[in-house]
Amino acid sequence: MDAIERKILQVIDAHAEEIKAFGRDIFHHAELGYKEHRTAGKFAEAMRRLGMEPQEGLAVTGVKSSLPGVQGSKIRVAVMGELDALPISNASHTNPETGAAHCCGHNAQLTGVLGAAIALSDPEIKAALGGTPVFMAVPAEECVDLEFKEQLAAQGKIRYFGGKCEFIRIGAMDDIDLVVGHHSITGDFEAGLANSPSTGFVSKTVRYRGKASHAAGSPQKGVDALNAAALGMHALELQRESFRDKDTVRVHGFISKGGEAVNVIADDVVLQYLVRAGNIPAIKDANRKVDRAMKAGAVGTGAGVEISTTPGYLPTAPLYDTKLVEGAIDDLLAVTGGRRDLNDHDMTMGGGSTDYGDISYVLPLLQFHTGGMCGSGHNPNYDVADEDTAYLLTAKLFALITYRLLRDDAKEARKLKEGFQPLFSKEEYLAYMESMLEKTEIEMQELPLLD
Ligand SMILES: [Zn+2]
Ligand SMILES: [Zn+2]
Repeated sequence: MDAIERKILQVIDAHAEEIKAFGRDIFHHAELGYKEHRTAGKFAEAMRRLGMEPQEGLAVTGVKSSLPGVQGSKIRVAVMGELDALPISNASHTNPETGAAHCCGHNAQLTGVLGAAIALSDPEIKAALGGTPVFMAVPAEECVDLEFKEQLAAQGKIRYFGGKCEFIRIGAMDDIDLVVGHHSITGDFEAGLANSPSTGFVSKTVRYRGKASHAAGSPQKGVDALNAAALGMHALELQRESFRDKDTVRVHGFISKGGEAVNVIADDVVLQYLVRAGNIPAIKDANRKVDRAMKAGAVGTGAGVEISTTPGYLPTAPLYDTKLVEGAIDDLLAVTGGRRDLNDHDMTMGGGSTDYGDISYVLPLLQFHTGGMCGSGHNPNYDVADEDTAYLLTAKLFALITYRLLRDDAKEARKLKEGFQPLFSKEEYLAYMESMLEKTEIEMQELPLLD
């Protein structure tokens, strides 16, 4: 490590209590996507205390804060964290006001970004940067609370559900050259590279419309929307053998409205589905099969069906050159004495999805993960086990990676940027997203003939 890097670690250690207190505060005041007003406010306030003038309210709650006064190249590196939590009502740390809990560890990301901002705004460290860090707090990574997001979309406040998708759409990423991202994971290690691919998806709402009637006294007068749904779901099951293993297709859903009474034939039944796969053609293929199957449920029972499809996230594309991130992890762990994740070169496709995938299609994305958490992700037992790892180590890695990209007139950042082949231009990205916004409908067929 050079003298500036040692100073970065010193500055973060000198502010350890302040950084950990920020992390704890965010952890205990969890908020859901596009509702993270308090969390975003705390982050913006911290940026202002460091002498920055953050932009607020980007994609409803997002914050973007450039470090002013950096000399050298025009390269700009986003140091990115997420704001949102999950609707988990029974964690010991659930926020009673919002019903949300940080069971995905986004509080550690945001705290890491703050710690990195404290270090990189130190005058001596800033003077060694040859490009500008841009500290970002992005809303709504978790694809939950869909009805609220649909409302926001209807009001024209968002168009896509993911916060990073919105950041790309509204131009918040237009002046950014590279992105540094992070996620906390649980395991027997302190830090590791995060570069494995993950699936992308589209989300679907399927609404069957039937005709209510007495379920025993006059079933011949009804059209059962729940039967239509059951037939649609069965038709979907019969498609599964056609999914290729190499595409990691995951189609999963649930009945969010199944009827109202045992003796009334259901006239309004709603299913929600996510259709995931490791590449765009496979997402499109599986999406078509889900549509076909759900329509079969309507045709077979005479019910009507309305299928709305919304683009979710893209698959995550790995970065071709991970040497810089790996070097920073190894050098830091040599100083702090932690263990590296031994599986961090596993390139097996992950079944889950993230809107970092969307970022990876348009910009070079450097990601790492840190530990310090216990329990399992998206589970009420998830908790912070070690604040030094969860918050301080994350801050140090965010700062070291950003510094290594930007030192020597941003030599490494320019090299990574020049070698990067985007899978989509911004225009191609938006065209793809628009092509996946779809509504299709079959009207309810003629009403029953018997009385
Ligand atoms: Zn999550
Ligand atoms: Zn997460």
